[in-house]
Amino acid sequence: MSKQKKFILQENELPTQWYNIQADMPNKPLPPIHPATKQPLGVDDLAHIFPRECCVQELDTEHAWIDIPEEVLDKYKFYRSTPLVRAYALEEALGTPAHIYFKNESTNPLGSHKINSALPQCYYAKQEGTTNVTTETGAGQWGMALSYAAKLFGLDAAVYQVKITMQQKPYRSSVMRTFGAAVTASPSMSTRAGKDIITKDPMHPGSLGTAISEAVELATTTPNCKYTLGSVLNHVGLHQTIIGLEAEKQMEMAGEYPDMVIACFGGGSNFGGLAFPFMRHNILDGKTTEFIAAEPESCPKLTRGEFRYDFGDEAGYTPLLPMYTIGHDFKPANIHAGGLRYHGAGMIVSQLIKDGLMRGVDIPQLETFEAGLLFAQTEGIIPAPESTHAIAATIREAKKCKETGEEKVILFNLSGHGLIDMPSYESYLNGDLRNYEVPDEEIQKYLTNVPKI
Ligand SMILES: *Cc1c(COP(=O)(O)O)cnc(C)c1O
Repeated sequence: MSKQKKFILQENELPTQWYNIQADMPNKPLPPIHPATKQPLGVDDLAHIFPRECCVQELDTEHAWIDIPEEVLDKYKFYRSTPLVRAYALEEALGTPAHIYFKNESTNPLGSHKINSALPQCYYAKQEGTTNVTTETGAGQWGMALSYAAKLFGLDAAVYQVKITMQQKPYRSSVMRTFGAAVTASPSMSTRAGKDIITKDPMHPGSLGTAISEAVELATTTPNCKYTLGSVLNHVGLHQTIIGLEAEKQMEMAGEYPDMVIACFGGGSNFGGLAFPFMRHNILDGKTTEFIAAEPESCPKLTRGEFRYDFGDEAGYTPLLPMYTIGHDFKPANIHAGGLRYHGAGMIVSQLIKDGLMRGVDIPQLETFEAGLLFAQTEGIIPAPESTHAIAATIREAKKCKETGEEKVILFNLSGHGLIDMPSYESYLNGDLRNYEVPDEEIQKYLTNVPKI
């Protein structure tokens, strides 16, 4: 009998609710606070920027289960469930007794998990009468997902893309424009913030910080326009739990339960999406699954940052968020995993690390590409440079199992494919990439700019 490799749910088996781990956490996340008054922020403080329903979800520490709106479920059915795959070929190449499974979030037309939150954010924006949405994007995966979701719900999307990445990864902006979005390289002359930045530094290459400032300004100065975000915030992680809730059912079909759950980590949304539904069984039912978030060695907020109130953006325009951070103006090296170049961790994950329910691991860039190549050559999928961090962490654990002879069940998230990231693979194959370890003094220097609360 041949071994079953792939597990897929029928339409009528798809989860119809998201899981809000805030309700079950032993210690609730601390609230976001206003930078000037230091007062906790409520729904009304956030709702002039974000769709109101997203703000309600953001601050909901009571309801463990949130209904997925019918219209969002209909759109999820375009591409869900995503396959859960047993990576037999990878196991064999490693000679490990571990059972390795991955949840393949790269199979939707946009190529990453980000569409799972772009859809509900646009749906809620449309519901409350908004006509326009705006956002920033770095590497471009979020911008692509948002552009498509906006089109599906009849909204106009304006995306500010970091100028330097627009030049490095030109196809991402072509995709966004194909879906009908207006794409502007940031910093631009179209906003006050952009003009100020360009006046000071005409050659500014742009950063997520400049792009966030411009998008937030557009949202607050344009009638019927809301701002959306692709990671970090609680409601984004909530929407992503569709990944873990499906995986839970699919692992059951495989007749196994994970000893380890692993995902790469930028702001925490694909990690939380896969991990939280399983973590609830650690919190409520005494399971002992280990949860590992894999971050780049060059941006090590989980492993070497401090738990502090810090700004969510480089310029310091956002509320103060309680997070593991290496400083909001930290300048990460220009590594190829663009989606992991963020200085802070989401509020929920930060509290969970503090409480010992999960841990971070940092991985050097060359090890991630080595893992990406092995995965491509065994499983036939070229992973996004971000996702290779999860693969590298998985390979480390599978090798440990080889030494100890343990048959651990490891589940990781393949957050996206790398087919628009081939210039990164090209650089690796040409031997042009290197590792970037951050000196302690540098982290300490940026941490001194974090507000003292
Ligand atoms: C954006 C992105 C990430 C990182 O974001 P999280 O919110 O931490 O998940 C990881 N993988 C891919 C493919 C991405 O596009």
